Amino acid sequence: MIDFSLARLQPAAAAVYAALGLKNGSEPSARSAALLPRAMDLFLATSEPRGMSRPVTADEFAAIFAGQGLNAPQAPLEEIFPQARRLELFAFTLGERISAEIERLFSGVDFALGFILDAVASLAADNAGRLAEEWLESQFGRQEESDSPPRAYLYSPGYCGWHISSQERLFAALRPQAIGLSLNASFLMAPLKSISGVLAVGPTVIHRIAGGYPFCSRCQSPACRERDIGIKE
Ligand code: SF4
Repeated sequence: MIDFSLARLQPAAAAVYAALGLKNGSEPSARSAALLPRAMDLFLATSEPRGMSRPVTADEFAAIFAGQGLNAPQAPLEEIFPQARRLELFAFTLGERISAEIERLFSGVDFALGFILDAVASLAADNAGRLAEEWLESQFGRQEESDSPPRAYLYSPGYCGWHISSQERLFAALRPQAIGLSLNASFLMAPLKSISGVLAVGPTVIHRIAGGYPFCSRCQSPACRERDIGIKE
C-alpha cells in the first residue's frame, strides 16, 4: 500500500517558486509570498488523493505499450520494459474538488491564486509518482552485494515517444475508474491533476536512454535529465 498522505504529497515552497519561474536563491515577490500559504491551505482542503497499481507481465504490457500503433520509432520504453524486474500499471489522482477549485479561481475569481494552486497541484501529482517509485524500489533488495540498488521510474503515455492513445489500453487493463478517473476522446484524463503509466524497476542501466530523438525537440520537461539516470552513449 502506497502512503499518499497530503503531508508527503505537499510540495516544498522552493519547488513551487521554481515551478513558477523564480530563479534559485531569488526572493519571491511580496504578493507571491502572501499567496503561497493560501494556495497550500486550499491544496490541503480540496485534495482527495487516491492511487492504485497492479503488477503486469512484460507480455501483457507489450500490448498496452503498442496501443493503437502510433508510438514513435525506437521509443525508449520499448527497450526498457522487457529488461525490468517488475512492471506495475499505475494511476493516481488528486480528485475532482481541487481541479474544480483551480477552474473556479481561473474563471475570474482570483487568477493569481489559481495559478499558484495549479502549480502546487501539479507538483503534488509529480510527488505521487515519486512516492510510487520509492514504494516499488523498497520491494527489491540487491541481488548481489556488488549490484547497485534497483531503481524504479514511472513512464507515462504522451511522453518520450509513447503515444497518448495507449491510455485506452492502459485504462482497460487497470480500470482506474475505481478511483474516479476517466478518459476523454483525446485520451486526456479527468480530473486534470492525475497521472498514469507504468512503473518499471530494475538496474539503473536499463533506464539510461539515448537523447536526441526527434520527439525530444518538443519536450517541455526533460525528465530523463532531471532523473539523473544519464544518457546512453
Ligand atoms: S528529452 Fe524529454 S522526450 Fe526526450 S527522452 Fe528525455 S524526457 Fe523523453
